Amino acid sequence: TAIIEARDVVLSFGQTPALRGADVAVNAGEILAVMGPSGSGKSTLLHCLAGILLPDSGEIHFAGRRLDSMGEAERSTLRRDRFGFVFQFGQLVPELTAEENVALPLLLGGTRRAEALKQARTWFGRLGLDGLEQRRSGELSGGQAQRVALARGLVNRPEILFADEPTGSLDSLTGEQVMDLMVTVAREQGTTVVLVTHEPRVAAYADREVIVRDGRVHSLAAEGIGAERI
Ligand code: ADP
Ligand code: ADP
Repeated sequence: TAIIEARDVVLSFGQTPALRGADVAVNAGEILAVMGPSGSGKSTLLHCLAGILLPDSGEIHFAGRRLDSMGEAERSTLRRDRFGFVFQFGQLVPELTAEENVALPLLLGGTRRAEALKQARTWFGRLGLDGLEQRRSGELSGGQAQRVALARGLVNRPEILFADEPTGSLDSLTGEQVMDLMVTVAREQGTTVVLVTHEPRVAAYADREVIVRDGRVHSLAAEGIGAERI
């Protein structure tokens, strides 16, 4: 059964249509890859599902509720408590240590500092980051920084992890390490993952792939669209 769903979502940026009737349903515990060419609307779809952008029309359903009819405050609380995010460029706060970056979602949610840092540190061993707790982002390799960003995305044990080109800034071997870890942890915790990528090798980690073209979502099987045509 779907935990999150977009129904006939339309969204334009001024005169530029980004989504033109996008439908997608993600099942609980599923890892869904959202593929498609640059500019097709993948990131916009992810932002709508996550309640960051509001559609011009259409519906977003999350856990039986209409996300698109909630106010900004409620959506913001939902993102903080129930969603996790990983982006292409880790977007770590450079002034903070790695463990402080990982603890950030907990601190913003009101967890006291000592407890938040304690929980944050449990992720370092799991993600192969032992000993890097006190580093700042400038002192981490690209792969290490992206694993810290992954830890930050998972630290609040989100129901859904939204990952937008999480390997886009990494070489393919480092990208595969990050994907292995993401998928392993997601499976262990039953986390649903919405993974935006234009790389077939990254999409191969998912349970299912959909393709966004011109602001609409196509399923691979139904459309018979091969990845080689992207
Ligand atoms: P993708 O993630 O598939 O590359 P996007 O969702 O980022 O596609 O973009 C879809 C379309 O919307 C593109 O034409 C893009 O230029 C446009 N777009 C995305 N974000 C904005 C924005 N903030 N302002 C104006 N146009 C945007
Ligand atoms: P992605 O495809 O991963 O979204 P982009 O480089 O297309 O990467 O977009 C990066 C950021 O710029 C996004 O936040 C997107 O919303 C914004 N953006 C994309 N296209 C435009 C545009 N034409 N005008 C303004 N902002 C844009």
